[in-house]
Amino acid sequence: MLDSHIHFEHQPYDLKLIDDMVNVALSKGIDELNLLDHTHKFKEFEFLYEPTKKDEKSYIWYKTHKTISIKEYIDFIHIVQKRKYPVKLNFGLEVCYFPETEDKLREELKKYDFDFLIGSVHFIDGFAFDIKKENWYGRDIDNLYKRYFKITELLIKSKIFTQLGHPDAIKIFSFFPSFDLHPYYEKIAKLLKEYNMMTENNSGFARHGFTNYGLNKDFFSILEKEGVRVNKSSDAHKYEDIGNKFDELQSCNLY
Ligand SMILES: [Zn+2]
Ligand SMILES: [Zn+2]
Repeated sequence: MLDSHIHFEHQPYDLKLIDDMVNVALSKGIDELNLLDHTHKFKEFEFLYEPTKKDEKSYIWYKTHKTISIKEYIDFIHIVQKRKYPVKLNFGLEVCYFPETEDKLREELKKYDFDFLIGSVHFIDGFAFDIKKENWYGRDIDNLYKRYFKITELLIKSKIFTQLGHPDAIKIFSFFPSFDLHPYYEKIAKLLKEYNMMTENNSGFARHGFTNYGLNKDFFSILEKEGVRVNKSSDAHKYEDIGNKFDELQSCNLY
């Protein structure tokens, strides 16, 4: 079994951490790990976040993040790749996708050779929607949902990524639109199939005490019906959380 979305985040790049990750994986019957970091951690991807200037709180959030060079990550990957482990380790990035900076992103990514790339919508027209519930107050929820799914479509059509991250993360704070979401689920599922992309069922929100973690059940069924590969993902930010809630998540890895 694969855990397709695991962060280093604030943990140090050292071999002891890899041993700890491998041990947790083995204890949970997981034999493949997709390890990654957010693009917002790396100086080289600062250009991506230009659109956050349109949304003050989101821009402040980005600017107060400490960034390092991606060279530190890549040097560490090379050290790990020289060693043997009882589980398969793949290395990649979780890229914050902004339609506004897609062309520059495509150019920047040509410099690297990752095993996989997860594309995630974390920002809607500059708004970092998953940080604080209060930041939603006074916003047009219907419009946020429409834009979220439109940006997701553009992400898939960019052909940059191997996997779409947490495809209905927009529901994080349980604000819901006035319209039916099924046509949006259908459209995303069909596009994922057409563009031969995987997606994920992500338990990450469970760590923050949210009960609505994982994909909407109907969305999952539609993805399954379309034959889209849906990988289980812990979105772990600490190695102890690898495989978290996997018994509760559905997946379809048969395709
Ligand atoms: Zn994410
Ligand atoms: Zn993540």
